[in-house]
Amino acid sequence: MDHSRTLFEPDLTEVPAGANRRAFLMRSASIAAAAVLTGCTAEEKAMQVAAAAPRPQANTKMSPELDVVKKSNGPVMTTLEEFYKVGPGPSSSHTIGPMRITYDFYQRCTKLPRDQLAKASSMKVHLYGSLSATGKGHGTERAALAGVIGKEPATVDPLFLDNLREKPDQSFPVKLGEKNLTLSLKDIIYDAPKGDFPHANTMTCKLMGGDAVLYELEYYSVGGGFIEWKGYQPPKKGEPKYPYSTMKELQEHADKNKLSVAQVVMANEVAVSGKSEADVNAFADKILNAMVNTVNAGLKAPQGVLPGPIKLKTKAGEVYKRAMEDRYQRQQGLGVVSAYALAGSEENARGHLVITAPTGGSAGVIPALVYALGEGGRKLPREKLRDGLLAAAAIGYLCKHNATLAGAEGGCQAEIGVASAMGAALIAQASDFGHQVVANAAESSLEHHLGMTCDPVAGFVQVPCIERCAFGAVKAWTGFMIASNEIPANRRVDFDTTATAMALTAKEMNSKYKETSEGGLAVSLVLC
Ligand code: SF4
Repeated sequence: MDHSRTLFEPDLTEVPAGANRRAFLMRSASIAAAAVLTGCTAEEKAMQVAAAAPRPQANTKMSPELDVVKKSNGPVMTTLEEFYKVGPGPSSSHTIGPMRITYDFYQRCTKLPRDQLAKASSMKVHLYGSLSATGKGHGTERAALAGVIGKEPATVDPLFLDNLREKPDQSFPVKLGEKNLTLSLKDIIYDAPKGDFPHANTMTCKLMGGDAVLYELEYYSVGGGFIEWKGYQPPKKGEPKYPYSTMKELQEHADKNKLSVAQVVMANEVAVSGKSEADVNAFADKILNAMVNTVNAGLKAPQGVLPGPIKLKTKAGEVYKRAMEDRYQRQQGLGVVSAYALAGSEENARGHLVITAPTGGSAGVIPALVYALGEGGRKLPREKLRDGLLAAAAIGYLCKHNATLAGAEGGCQAEIGVASAMGAALIAQASDFGHQVVANAAESSLEHHLGMTCDPVAGFVQVPCIERCAFGAVKAWTGFMIASNEIPANRRVDFDTTATAMALTAKEMNSKYKETSEGGLAVSLVLC
């Protein structure tokens, strides 16, 4: 059974749980009428009505105990490894987070005492809240199963996940010490979508001995691939060498110490994480390589249709081919950057490996720019790309610290907008511009995404997300071009002001436009 299709087996006589009956019937009638006008079949019409049905809304209240809720007033403490995470798309909160969770549980189980493991007979994963309500469309169950059988999110073979989608009845051995268990998708349970959970994305993982629970832990996928668990204590960290919580403070450190943005970030990374510069560079290289791989994989993928009900055709390869044939050189630049971004984003939609920069939905933007500055264009040396990645991280950290990175909290300005701002900073830093140009470029790109809503059609990270990554990458370049060609001190709007504006816009944005698929394109587009 294709689990992604189960969202679309509607009983049109039944009003979905949690939906307003009158609104549901009116929406069904108007969509059906639109479908008739556009020539949909009865089945396609039914799918469209189901897709438009309001989903059971999970409790979006968050426990004040969660570390993610305890907003720090202190300096930025985020590290590169926390920020850039590799894992399977299409969603940092619905696939990367859950897979990191089940892989963490698998690792804990391997360390349990031998006598406890001797009694084990199975493992169960329960998905609650939003993970239960929208997980099927994202393939959350496949990511969760891959983690709990011991596959690491950053290195899982995408073909394993593809194969699981095509043949969902397979079973897999899992070895816990000397104990061998067999698990399948039946062990991943879509549990209550509504309830009083500590976080909208709550999961429990259990090691079972018959009907008895031998070991259990409650986890939360708190956004951007970050995870926590019951009783979570954030890791102990060192004090940043150059503490900052705003761009203004970061720039003051840069001015006073004659440092670039990348150098400030590197010094803090070493101080906070306790790693050496060589270790930080090795991690940056791992992320850069993963970004290059995702673009290469997307460009080489045969043209086809992406998974899900939208039946969206891929276009990265074709846009790239046409761009390379283009006799207008400047147009060619726009074409290849767009193609690289489409390639990364289509890989995300396929559920293949992507990098949160800052999220899965925006995962085409930064890889496109890394590729364009590196092997797919300018061929800048690796050190410059590393510096760019560090400067981009500073923008992401500041947006996380002072606003949000989650479409569910701030709309698409928080995902593609932040990715584009990070991208502009990356280009400016990799091109050796000073901190004011880096800050201005990021400001310009973020400013022109303010107010952008999140309305993914049918809840799939495809429309508008895939093309939006191409626009985010191109706008990053536009932001850089403007910032690098004006007198830096003359810029009227500063980065901190725009980040504050994004936080305010996020707060005042109608909740229909925060990843609920209940507004905008999600209710306007007829799917056939
Ligand atoms: S529309 Fe929503 S899901 Fe898509 S990229 Fe933007 S924020 Fe992410």
